[in-house]
Amino acid sequence: MTTPSHKALVPFVSVDNMMRLVHSIGLETMLKDLADYVEADFKRWELFDKTPRVASHSDVGVIELMPTSDGEAYGFKYVNGHPKNTSEGLQTVTAFGLLADVYTGYPVLLTEMTMLTALRTAATSAMVAKHLAPKGADTMAMIGNGAQSEFQTLAMKAICGLKSVRLFDKDPAATAKCARNLAAAGLEVVQCGTPEEAIEGAQILTTCTADKQNATILTDNMVGAGVHINAIGGDCPGKTELAAGILHRSDVFVEFPPQTRIEGEIQQMPEDFPVTELWQVITGQKQGRRDNKQITLFDSVGFAIEDFSALRYIRDHIKGTDFFLDLDMLADPDDPRDLFGMLQRSKG
Ligand code: NAD
Repeated sequence: MTTPSHKALVPFVSVDNMMRLVHSIGLETMLKDLADYVEADFKRWELFDKTPRVASHSDVGVIELMPTSDGEAYGFKYVNGHPKNTSEGLQTVTAFGLLADVYTGYPVLLTEMTMLTALRTAATSAMVAKHLAPKGADTMAMIGNGAQSEFQTLAMKAICGLKSVRLFDKDPAATAKCARNLAAAGLEVVQCGTPEEAIEGAQILTTCTADKQNATILTDNMVGAGVHINAIGGDCPGKTELAAGILHRSDVFVEFPPQTRIEGEIQQMPEDFPVTELWQVITGQKQGRRDNKQITLFDSVGFAIEDFSALRYIRDHIKGTDFFLDLDMLADPDDPRDLFGMLQRSKG
């Protein structure tokens, strides 16, 4: 019997291997590196294929596919968002993703992306804050102390020089968990009993809550002049975190307007509400922060190019390591037209 050929093995990074990779690189180094990869792709934004993600909504959550291509590689992420999951012992957000070679169409990487999404979201937030936050910002309010929160905080430390974080969650157990996890991070960590207390003295306000409703995590009167808001949790139709009044007083920066208008905080605003595309700030075509009084708002929803950057990063960094397994997931017979023969030969 001829052994069927399996030439086209696909590297697969499991959750265990992703965690080993993070530890081998160092979490803060990896967050900085990922921010550089995301920034590099924002600089060549125009050459990417872009489309709002394909979302399938249910009463309890959403399942989304996020594709993009730079003409040489193609990537997509499968991701869910189910705020009720934590009460059932499950993650709100889980994900996996794939990178493929555009020339052959063959996949070149399959990887877990639950961990990687937390890393890329945090790296993107901090990369954006580096461009928009007021000079010398070193204190952040972190509202919503769930799965993303430590990553968000550490990326702000590694990339923007954050020194102090003020935590609030409606569930004090989440705040206690976050404080415990950040205890040895080299930051001042303050547990707060109210969102008002959390924002005291903070120049960066991060909202990262999960609730499938138009919530008001920050009310208009809570937000003073000169802050940068990093709004992460409003990322679905009917799921927002900010009072509309804040949007009227802010300069709003977005990833890809056609997707953000559907999913972001600006879904509350008219179609022609003015926004600035972040890639234009990063390439120097548009102004970011003008002065110390201005409120800048990153209306983050998470865009496919950020996942593409993260997939590229993993592809580049597993080479020569044992942080992956070769997956036999492509039938690739020696004679490309003899798929049937390959099946026949495999019979015992
Ligand atoms: P999570 O469920 O682990 O944590 C969310 C936390 O928010 C929980 O601890 C919950 O108690 C808290 N919370 C809910 N309502 C609150 C309120 N009114 N006030 C204070 N705290 C409140 O979720 P996660 O994985 O950390 O994700 C957080 C949010 O970020 C989700 O909405 C998710 O969809 C979104 N997200 C966005 C991006 C992006 O790129 N923009 C990426 C990943 C996740």
